[in-house]
Amino acid sequence: MKKYILALDEGTTSARAILFDQNAAVVSVAQNAFPQYYPKAGWVEQNPMELYAAEYAALTECVAKSGINPREIAAVGITNQRETTVVWDKKTGEPVYPAIVWQCRRTADICEALEKAGHGEYIAKTTGLRIDPYFSGTKIKWILDNVAGARARAERGELAFGTVDTWLLWKLTGGEVFATDVSNASRTMLCNIHTGEWDEKLLSILDIPRAMLPEIRSSSEVYGYLDCMGAKIPIAGIAGDQQSALFGQGCFSAGNAKNTYGTGCFLLAHTGNHPAKSHEGMLTTLAATEKGRALEYALEGSVFVGGAVISWLKNELHLIHAAQDSEYFASRVPDTGGVYIVPAFAGLGAPTWDMHARGTIVGLTAGTGRNHIIRAALESIAFQTEDVLSAMNRDMKAALGDEAGIVSLRVDGGASRNDLLMQMQSDISAIPVLRSDNAEATALGAAFLAGLAVGFFESRDALPIKSQDHRAFYPNIDSEERKKEKKAWARAVCACRAFSNVYESEEI
Ligand code: ADP
Repeated sequence: MKKYILALDEGTTSARAILFDQNAAVVSVAQNAFPQYYPKAGWVEQNPMELYAAEYAALTECVAKSGINPREIAAVGITNQRETTVVWDKKTGEPVYPAIVWQCRRTADICEALEKAGHGEYIAKTTGLRIDPYFSGTKIKWILDNVAGARARAERGELAFGTVDTWLLWKLTGGEVFATDVSNASRTMLCNIHTGEWDEKLLSILDIPRAMLPEIRSSSEVYGYLDCMGAKIPIAGIAGDQQSALFGQGCFSAGNAKNTYGTGCFLLAHTGNHPAKSHEGMLTTLAATEKGRALEYALEGSVFVGGAVISWLKNELHLIHAAQDSEYFASRVPDTGGVYIVPAFAGLGAPTWDMHARGTIVGLTAGTGRNHIIRAALESIAFQTEDVLSAMNRDMKAALGDEAGIVSLRVDGGASRNDLLMQMQSDISAIPVLRSDNAEATALGAAFLAGLAVGFFESRDALPIKSQDHRAFYPNIDSEERKKEKKAWARAVCACRAFSNVYESEEI
């Protein structure tokens, strides 16, 4: 009798393994951090062997300490940090270079050249992405151009490229399966999101041999088998971390959105079977989709400084001792007393896209106290999220018609535990905010995908999502007040940009 699903969650800083039962309750967890390497300013690398070792160790520890028989595991799902690029020798299994991590900016020059050559529009239209070092395509090119002999070997068909899912799948199946899923493929800047296939023109623009690319498959099917203490277990689910969280949160149809409130915030809104083109700087991306289903899409946007503004209150201003104290102190005042913080520590993202902006606090009076500042910091997370949500709403309406739009927001991540922040979000965005007690949305998505492929879960409707405890937050201010608040925030953003841009251009 199969009773469990195992999710392998290879994040940016650690590898985790989480065992779930049929009700999606966590039975066992193991976690191993792995080192990050910063060989030059702006460069970020990881060692692919260390990634694999950390994940394999987490897998065995998780199963061993649960006390279950590995034969009781119905399937394994993989979710992973996206875009990170591994190139290895198909015969020896040796990586030819360290993994180039998504944050790494080394390919800025290649991106600039692509932009100058006028490829931006084709890339946006085909991949749903904008040209940026973030995505895998230019990282592969960099390896082929800079590692001695790599290009010739790739052309002879000796090298393989994979994002972290592909690398793990290949290692865990003993080199038998070389594949990725649609959600990871859509982050490479090489995949045509309309067909779910590699795009020949982009491969030729970036000079990447087709032979080194994995097969693109659905996010939920049996790819191959791994050996866990003598038990052969199917690997049956794969999704990039954000799309996996979208799936784990049960956002399967247009208008369902999720926000992960971490250091930054990651928002994804499902747009059904329609790739909504963004006019607001959002990315269009493939959502995790089971075998046999038509491709599904999401809009993706992010807030650069989310929970990080609370860390800043703690670490730099010493206004609080722990992030969760922000809720207590902010609740001691009824409002911010007209204070707004725009935490543009590294520029402003959607919908403003002002890279010169630097943060500001406006509206100070002699009566402004610590609690007002803390409350304003929390509000800034909600306002920035609302800016992205409303940009997504405009994109959705333009693409899908006036009735389209985001109807509810499911939330996860560290700062989503803050009830006051969740209430602020619901108030400002005028939508229900739903928080599950299960904090493992990302791993759960991979577990669901794997479970669906092997019949452990019968259908999307049968997934144990609704049975989980939710806390719901509903809008509790009237539309006049909301309008006033949003207007004040917009003015604060204007003030921030006015200062930063004049300062940068030295016009004074
Ligand atoms: P990440 O995965 O990005 O490291 P987490 O999901 O662990 O982030 O969330 C941590 C971030 O959320 C930190 O920036 C922290 O300041 C913030 N945070 C954590 N708990 C709370 C809370 N209760 N209220 C407000 N912010 C919080």
